[in-house]
Amino acid sequence: AKKRGRNRYYWFEHSMESELRFRSELESGIRRGIPAGEFVPYYEKQIDLATGEIVGFEMLARWNSPSLGLVSPDLFIPVAEEIGVIADLSESVIRQALLDARHWNPKLTLSVNISPVQLRDPWFAQKLLKLLVEANFPPNRLEIEITENSLHENIGLVRSMITSLKNQGIRVSLDDFGTGYSSLSQLRTLPFDRIKIDRSFITTLPDSKDSATIVQSIVALGEGLGLPITAEGVESEEVLHELRKFSGLKAQGYLYGMPETARTTAEELAQLDLL
Ligand code: C2E
Ligand code: CA
Ligand code: CA
Ligand code: CA
Repeated sequence: AKKRGRNRYYWFEHSMESELRFRSELESGIRRGIPAGEFVPYYEKQIDLATGEIVGFEMLARWNSPSLGLVSPDLFIPVAEEIGVIADLSESVIRQALLDARHWNPKLTLSVNISPVQLRDPWFAQKLLKLLVEANFPPNRLEIEITENSLHENIGLVRSMITSLKNQGIRVSLDDFGTGYSSLSQLRTLPFDRIKIDRSFITTLPDSKDSATIVQSIVALGEGLGLPITAEGVESEEVLHELRKFSGLKAQGYLYGMPETARTTAEELAQLDLL
């Protein structure tokens, strides 16, 4: 038993070591990758359900890592936040996205995700405006997405931030709604322009009565508060059918295709005469 324990200890130490090595390679890769331009925007279509037309895109960051390949933001965003480089990373992909989106039809909007860490930076609004000016991009075509989980601390700071962004014409959406800590009173006091229903409720819509009830309630809430709704994670015609029972919704999801590069997005828009 002693021997086995020791082997297990060695194995444990070994895997800890390789995990630590992976983590430190990840960190240095991210630090190097930002100035090297390895972080790139991908674009996911946003559809107006009433017309079926593309009304905008959500930018989703990807890491084109020389050693790891195309890396998902769920892996690199938390690390970038922890090592203090999320603002630089975000600035790099938003700058590229503004330049890409400038060529699209001006009625198309661009949504970008903002980390809670960035929201705690008192200069955030200023920095974002600088990027808009540099790219000559109209603020009223930009929408920023804040997750519910950004709202549980420093609510006063977040409120003044949202207000100053809105004063510049930028719209602000509440992302992943229904999964976080936000209370309904925050919905009333924070001047959001849109609610995005988390995809966990949308993907399960046809099979789960509870999800259907929750989606119905959120749509009613949006109507009552005058907040338009986006449903994310629309993967199937069945879900689309359920969502058509409501009016005024926007939708996103793999049903409309996977997130694409700037080039593929532009090619698709050109075919639709939206470039
Ligand atoms: P999110 O903002 O909720 O973005 C939606 C995620 O769901 C994206 O994953 C998208 O690819 C995925 N998705 C879209 N439609 C479907 C669908 O029909 N089914 C399924 N199963 N998934 C779908 P992705 O690109 O891996 O991004 C994950 C998260 O990383 C995003 O969640 C967002 O919170 C964060 N993120 C992405 N880009 C950035 C960024 O530039 N800055 C920050 N701070 N966060 C980012
Ligand atoms: Ca989002
Ligand atoms: Ca979301
Ligand atoms: Ca999410």
